[in-house]
Amino acid sequence: MTQVDEQVTEYYNKLLQRNAGEPEFHQAVREVLDSLKIVLEKDPHYADYGLIQRLCEPERQVIFRVPWVSDNNNVHVSRGFRVQFNSALGPYKGGLRFHPSVNLGIIKFLGFEQIFKNSLTGLPIGGGKGGSDFNPKGRSEGEIMRFCQSFMTELHRHIGEQTDVPAGDIGVGKREIGFLFGQYRRLTNRHESGVLTGKGLSWGGSLVRTEATGYGCVYLTKEMMKEHGESLDGAEVIVSGSGNVAVYAIEKAQELGATVVGFSDSSGWVHTPNGVDVELLRDIKENRRERVSAYVEETTGDTFHSDSSIWSLAADVALPCATQNELTGEHARTLVDNGVKYVAEGANMPSTPEAIEVFREKGVCFAPGKAANAGGVATSALEMQQNATRDSWSFDYTDERLHQIMSNIFRVTADTAAEYDHEGNYVIGANIAGFRKVADAMLAQGVI
Ligand code: GLU
Repeated sequence: MTQVDEQVTEYYNKLLQRNAGEPEFHQAVREVLDSLKIVLEKDPHYADYGLIQRLCEPERQVIFRVPWVSDNNNVHVSRGFRVQFNSALGPYKGGLRFHPSVNLGIIKFLGFEQIFKNSLTGLPIGGGKGGSDFNPKGRSEGEIMRFCQSFMTELHRHIGEQTDVPAGDIGVGKREIGFLFGQYRRLTNRHESGVLTGKGLSWGGSLVRTEATGYGCVYLTKEMMKEHGESLDGAEVIVSGSGNVAVYAIEKAQELGATVVGFSDSSGWVHTPNGVDVELLRDIKENRRERVSAYVEETTGDTFHSDSSIWSLAADVALPCATQNELTGEHARTLVDNGVKYVAEGANMPSTPEAIEVFREKGVCFAPGKAANAGGVATSALEMQQNATRDSWSFDYTDERLHQIMSNIFRVTADTAAEYDHEGNYVIGANIAGFRKVADAMLAQGVI
């Protein structure tokens, strides 16, 4: 064991001890610390002034009670979170997730990832994340609205356009952002557009924000394939999920000539050998809010499966766009056996460490979420720019900015991996490139 190995192991063991029962947070930190060993061997000054320990400790964590009344007059008590992880580069920025699986460890893992992702965008945004264990599934619009109002009644004390700017994530879309913004405006008596992103277009939202995470993931995939002399034109692609990220990844991949052969939700997956009817899928998920099995009732030649995994399909490209740890080592081995060559993560940490190891061993080009799904938050930062100047940009201009940002992210990720003698290892490239910018800012700003 080298001295750096020992030092990093000590940081990690201490973190395990102080953050017990948060396996997703441990997993996210572990991966970054493994990459940072390489940095510390070359540039030991990055361990000065307790930098690594400070980076792994959120600046602030808020946990609060969210009481709300359901339609049948029962009182429910949900738990709300906002973890303000790092503001060295700009106001805390990151989404809100409403899902029954949410707990402090999940929000900390997401907030930690967000620091590096946001840094990679090159835009002035720090990292944070929040949410609640509230389950929106099956709830009426009135229940969702009352929940959002109760959530914001506490959250509004902690956010602001120069402090912390939440947005959506799983379970939080345009409708929820509307209810949250309305309550913030009511409580503060300020129409402060820049306090939330993902807003409606007539009240400060940005064009392309809805499409941005999915489009961005495909733009990055395109760059990664170009680097290896290939393109999406004619490729077969699997996209897991059918939420906002998945739908727009499917749309953009097909626009660039790929055939998307499958998508999924938590109830099962749909095999679409001739490609996906995006309009139909969007209608089912966004308007009708139904399960994906409804899709096959309205098309021919497609099949619904609930007894196997979408990763059993053969394809050239896999885009996991559902949720954390959805793609295991076993799934990765099946994908490799079936010929997958490129994987880009549209979701946050969808591949387990074992899956990433399988991809690395077998020479699959793998783009981690920090790089591949940064398009959403990057476009949120563009929304903040428009809000700050009271301007609104055209679709094409905003899309072009997003495209440029994703190309830059790929370039800096690939170049950093090569600089540290790990050419083609985009996990190491993204972690180190994201880290260096934040670390330099933290060192410059002193021990705080
Ligand atoms: N929830 C998204 C993410 O994971 C977007 C965050 C934002 O736009 O602030 O990056």
